[in-house]
Amino acid sequence: MRLELSRVVQGCRRGVLTGLGRSGGHSLELPGCLLYTRCASVPHLTHDTLHTLPHLPPVTQISLDSLAEHQEVLEEFGEGVAKFAGLHDTVLFCSLHDLATPRPSGYNTNKTVSVWGSGGRIELSAARYMALQAAIRPDWYQSLADGETPPSASRKRARKAVDRTLTHLDECLSLHHQTQELRGAEIFGVVEGGDVLEERPELRCQLIAGVTKELPEDKPRLLLGVGCPDEVLACVEAGVDLFESSFPFQVTERGCALCFSFNIEPDPESAVLERNGPQSDGERGAKTQDDPEQMTPFEMNLKDKRYRDDFRPLVAGCECYCCRHHQRAYLHHLLVTNELLAGVLLMLHNLTHYCGFFRALRGALESGRLQALRRRILQREGGV
Ligand SMILES: [Zn+2]
Repeated sequence: MRLELSRVVQGCRRGVLTGLGRSGGHSLELPGCLLYTRCASVPHLTHDTLHTLPHLPPVTQISLDSLAEHQEVLEEFGEGVAKFAGLHDTVLFCSLHDLATPRPSGYNTNKTVSVWGSGGRIELSAARYMALQAAIRPDWYQSLADGETPPSASRKRARKAVDRTLTHLDECLSLHHQTQELRGAEIFGVVEGGDVLEERPELRCQLIAGVTKELPEDKPRLLLGVGCPDEVLACVEAGVDLFESSFPFQVTERGCALCFSFNIEPDPESAVLERNGPQSDGERGAKTQDDPEQMTPFEMNLKDKRYRDDFRPLVAGCECYCCRHHQRAYLHHLLVTNELLAGVLLMLHNLTHYCGFFRALRGALESGRLQALRRRILQREGGV
């Protein structure tokens, strides 16, 4: 794996990772995102449907917590998860947890980290963790880490998390070199440590910028657990290269569609469409009745009655299958009648929109227009 940076402006890194995967045939543009999956499958989509989407991330993320209880089956299969799950040609990254799934805290010890499968808690020592990675055979994987450092964690607890994570990294590296199945795989060291600063997003970014300054420039920086567009932008400015993409899935799960604009050079026709679209008609950021806290200002809630007779596409000008063939009213109908097709169509749109945002982000970095993109992303109803 090689990282080539083509442009670095005030800490933002534009570049490309080449020589990825065991074959070395993949490359990944930075800043970018990984393809979020559950059990190696993008939720709601079959592999065939998924691959009708253009510009998919070349790196697929799986999480170990959904696979840990299948260790024996994977060992018996013997050819790794990519083949087991019938994945198309992709680079496989295995993270420890699925950050879109809440998990109980308080179960990590000096020697073990707990993950939660459908059958309950599984305690992982470094040795068991590495045996699982050998069965999974990812191209990239993170080292074992004690990640229990919420904003409320004391400095003592954060220090303990750092110490444990460093010990786990040493154990994982030692076993990595002895494991035939992991030959050619890349291991991502984990930077751990909570801080009271994390309670405020702008200070959290200062903290991340402080960390990235200390990291080697020729290695990619992957941040898990951040996906909201404004936070992604702030973290790119703090020197982060890669993000996961559970955000569009979470938006889909609450019956919402991403509708923020990332077009910094709208042609006259699409400018008119946007004025009539979700950005300026008071729809964006409407709170859901089910879960008003989770919804972000970057999405619209299609369960809302106002869409019952709204015959426009989700986002004017969007090239996804859903926007080319269906209207908001149909999505509203599918959601209120609990049809499974709602999740399929929303996932197609949300993933397309999210990948489009990252392409726009790279384009803005290349053309020196990141601030214009930031203004576009952060505009609220009636703004700009
Ligand atoms: Zn669409």
